[in-house]
Amino acid sequence: MFIKENIERIKKEIPDYVTIVAATKSRNVNEINEAINAGIKIIGENYVQEALKKYKVIGNQVKWHMIGHLQSNKVKKALFFDMIQTIDRLKIAKKLDNLCAGKKIMPCLVQVNISGEKTKFGIRPEEAIDFIKQLSELNHIRIKGLMTMEPYLKNPEDARPYFRKMKNLFYYIKNLNIPNVEMKILSMGMSSSYKIAIEEGSNMIRIGTKIFGKRKELG
Ligand SMILES: *Cc1c(COP(=O)(O)O)cnc(C)c1O
Repeated sequence: MFIKENIERIKKEIPDYVTIVAATKSRNVNEINEAINAGIKIIGENYVQEALKKYKVIGNQVKWHMIGHLQSNKVKKALFFDMIQTIDRLKIAKKLDNLCAGKKIMPCLVQVNISGEKTKFGIRPEEAIDFIKQLSELNHIRIKGLMTMEPYLKNPEDARPYFRKMKNLFYYIKNLNIPNVEMKILSMGMSSSYKIAIEEGSNMIRIGTKIFGKRKELG
């Protein structure tokens, strides 16, 4: 029952305009169903194969978002997703665009590496505008906003400057009014940081631990 209580607690803490994505890597179908029964409408998965297995059981009663790094050889199997939050390479975007042709228009977010850490995926902020202009020419993907993973910091308050940079970038790009690009979603904030992310402009948070508890692999 704790999953339901956790979700209800988070919902009370956040404004109505903020969407919760349940980050469900390594969680099983029963746990995910519990979250769905508590009102979760979007499932975020990191690995295509793992997501597909769960999708085959749970289906379209919820939306499925890819929040992990998308590898070139997995793009074809990723077409069932309702959104890809992690676009950061033109090659992958073009492959996705080709595979979606005649089937669907895939909503996408551009992942930004706002901290510049070498270990993090995402486009560098200074490259984001040119990258998005290139993406805007692809007809079967549609850019809906930005996503970021802030650096891991002991004190989540220390992530605030990164979130603020993201918000500034988000509004800067929004105001460019690039054709085919809708800057609507700013996906940032996880279990330890979502309150600060929302204060700095996030309208989509991705929550794993605070909903499901600590992951077993992490001990
Ligand atoms: C796991 C994960 C999350 C959720 O992390 P928690 O700290 O468990 O809330 C969010 N976003 C991405 C991309 C993830 O991989």
